Amino acid sequence: MISALEMYDPQIYELLTQEKARQSGAIRLIPSENYVSKAVMQASGSCLTNKYAEGYPGKRYYEGQQVTDLIENLAIERAKKIFNAEHANVQSYSGSVANIAAYSALLDPGDMIMGLSLTYGGHLTHGSKASLTSRFYKSVPYEVDAKTGRLDYDRIEDLAKKHKPRMIISGATAYPREIDFEIFGQIAKKVGAYHLSDIAHVAGLVVAGIHKSPVPYADIVSTTSHKTLRGPRGGILLCKAEHAKAVDRAVFPGLQGGPHLHTITGIAVALAEADTPEFINYAKQIVKNAKRLADKLLEYGFNLVSGGTDNHLILIDLRNKGIKGRKLAKALDRAGIVTNFNTVPGDPAPPSDPSGLRLGTPAVTTRGMKEPQMDTIAGLINKVAQNIDNEAAIAEVGKEALLLSSQFFVPEHFIIPRKNNNFVE
Ligand SMILES: *Cc1c(COP(=O)(O)O)cnc(C)c1O
Repeated sequence: MISALEMYDPQIYELLTQEKARQSGAIRLIPSENYVSKAVMQASGSCLTNKYAEGYPGKRYYEGQQVTDLIENLAIERAKKIFNAEHANVQSYSGSVANIAAYSALLDPGDMIMGLSLTYGGHLTHGSKASLTSRFYKSVPYEVDAKTGRLDYDRIEDLAKKHKPRMIISGATAYPREIDFEIFGQIAKKVGAYHLSDIAHVAGLVVAGIHKSPVPYADIVSTTSHKTLRGPRGGILLCKAEHAKAVDRAVFPGLQGGPHLHTITGIAVALAEADTPEFINYAKQIVKNAKRLADKLLEYGFNLVSGGTDNHLILIDLRNKGIKGRKLAKALDRAGIVTNFNTVPGDPAPPSDPSGLRLGTPAVTTRGMKEPQMDTIAGLINKVAQNIDNEAAIAEVGKEALLLSSQFFVPEHFIIPRKNNNFVE
């Protein structure tokens, strides 16, 4: 396939080769990113990209669905199994679309939603001013405590009692602690609201049983397939049987046309991989690595939001270091260490140039890195921060980062063993 690309479009071929080299050479610490396995890559780059399949298995609007129905049903059954859910929809094009579908399944335009504020670690689609979701729905955001960096469930309950939202959203994009989905479920019940739980980031930790699953406590659970869950880019919705019809209708025909069957095929493979002991070990190591990286950063005098982490991500508050997040993120990128700048709770600086840096361990854990490598990475981050205006020193860190990276396998060699699988065939 790639040689046809090389012949037909050498420009794109060359660029893809460069990106592959970047992904192999860099220490990738963006917490929402990962490396998919070779099997997932093959499945998502398959002939299913040629197929239209509007509708659902057994109820399509186009013919020729002999194979697509079987594939989508496999993806659905595997999602239901690993999340222990009554119903699954695997058609959402992304996590954002999955959230909008969840709203439209249960809400009317103008209803009030209550999610975590964007600048306090929530997602755009949780009712941010910048998102369409705040134009269709009234949005009353809750925040994490700016001092502790943690969710204050009593305050969230008070806010919910005061505003009586129709839906409360649990889940975050930049929150380093385990979220108590059960309490969110109780708060929602008390005020008569639906509970949507968005586990886009921590889905892999939930599948592995490291974080408590929201499935028993939420009306709908949304997730991406490509973060810790380690599939191709897409969205999954899980719900109770009573909401199954509304959720399916909200995705198609409510929001989308033809599903991306090639992506669904890749998701099916990723869900099989997630149903293995190897995946559980990987998820456990993600958290061990994040904790170790956090400990070492603390030793170097970095302030961490909430003082540490329970999951795969770390949020550094750089104010005591006198460096802005963007400047450090760009310097680290020049050294081959890829992170993203991020607001911290109560950030006095704007999201375009905030006070924080967000990093996470899923991608480096997939490559097999463990605690000793986290020590090295923390040292390299510290060196860049200490030499923020010294390009020669940053280039030296770049060499060390490449040396570390070169000792760990690249995704094209990465195959998950299938022994011990017992998913539905
Ligand atoms: C990443 C993320 C999403 C959106 O996913 P996309 O696939 O980028 O649309 C939704 N919710 C949360 C909490 C996220 O972190």
